[in-house]
Amino acid sequence: MKSTGFIYKCTDCGKEYSTFGTLYLCPWCSTGNNKTAPPKGVLRILYDFPEIRKKITGFADLQNNGFISLLPVENISSLPRLRVGNTPLYQLSELDGSRLPFSLRLKDDSQNPTWSLKDRASALVSAFAREKKMGIIITASTGNAGSSLAGICASQKQKAVIIVPEKAPLAKLTQIIMYGATLIPIKGTYDEAFDLSVKATEEFGWYNRNTAFNPLTIEGKKTVSFEIFDQMGNLVPDRIFISAGDGAIVSGVYKGFEDLLHLNIIDRMPVMVVVQSEKSDNLVRNIGKKEFTVIASTTIADSISVDIPRNFYMAQHFVQKYGGETLTVSDDEILAASRNLSGSTGLFAEPAAATAFAGLLSYVKNDRIPSGSSNVVLLTGSGLKDLKAVGPMLNMPASIKPDISNLKKLLQ
Ligand SMILES: [Zn+2]
Repeated sequence: MKSTGFIYKCTDCGKEYSTFGTLYLCPWCSTGNNKTAPPKGVLRILYDFPEIRKKITGFADLQNNGFISLLPVENISSLPRLRVGNTPLYQLSELDGSRLPFSLRLKDDSQNPTWSLKDRASALVSAFAREKKMGIIITASTGNAGSSLAGICASQKQKAVIIVPEKAPLAKLTQIIMYGATLIPIKGTYDEAFDLSVKATEEFGWYNRNTAFNPLTIEGKKTVSFEIFDQMGNLVPDRIFISAGDGAIVSGVYKGFEDLLHLNIIDRMPVMVVVQSEKSDNLVRNIGKKEFTVIASTTIADSISVDIPRNFYMAQHFVQKYGGETLTVSDDEILAASRNLSGSTGLFAEPAAATAFAGLLSYVKNDRIPSGSSNVVLLTGSGLKDLKAVGPMLNMPASIKPDISNLKKLLQ
């Protein structure tokens, strides 16, 4: 069960494609794609599940083989040496000083090498490029995917080209340069960066990592589900709170559990709670609608500030098929959640990640979490990546002369 064991399946028309090479969007469905709606033809990777079932006795077998039978690469050794994934899952027993009547765990994916969940996708894309001997990988990014690809490529001795809107957070731009990638800031939006990167792929033949364009990104992101299942003692949580921009992480988490469902390792799916900012709600607002409409995003949570969610149709498919839930929170709630999370757990998440925690707090406030249920909040990136966003909340103390009497005065 290596590279021969998977096919690409179109989310929209259901056509299946079998190839050893690269494939991005379904050629059939993507011809009508335009700039005013999410792209059609995003592909999902499917494996020969009956064949895998014959070869394994349970989850431990998959795990012992590094999940190679559920990844579209030949060898685990093609993946970076950096520790990608295997991030901690912390259990919280209380919130704001009160004991919780349900179980709550925080999956801290800021503990990845470049401090975001995106490393899971970059690692797989990088491994695939290595096996196919493609030397240059390009991506459009709002910041995290770019800094992630840059770091992963540095570790794999590959060349990365990163196109970002010039207003991307400084920390992420700094990472890209420090990792030695070619940084191309543009006077334009993420969507324009996306289009330029696709044109560069057509023009120069570079391998493209774009989210919801390269089907491997979902496959990389899904590994977080395998870990949650493992860290919970081979149990499926009742609910997972996930913040969403493009919808790719939502789809990735679904895909991981769905793979396990196809292998009869689990018999039910968790309920995904998809959380967006009120000021960037193009995914959740459109999920039950026939016509897609866009409202320009203005949220402070830069990595989920998205006008056209690139993975909309796949996320919609999963949410509708498996009874997912959606909600929006205000930017004030996001900032308050970020502070609450940092102060009560020691986990400093970037606003986009704290959005998922804000979703949980909203559920708690509205009594929407049953007693005894098990809940997970996915924290996707580090707060150090976007300090500007929390700036207005900071009350930086004035400095004092280093004298004990001054200190006493201050403490009074
Ligand atoms: Zn199609």
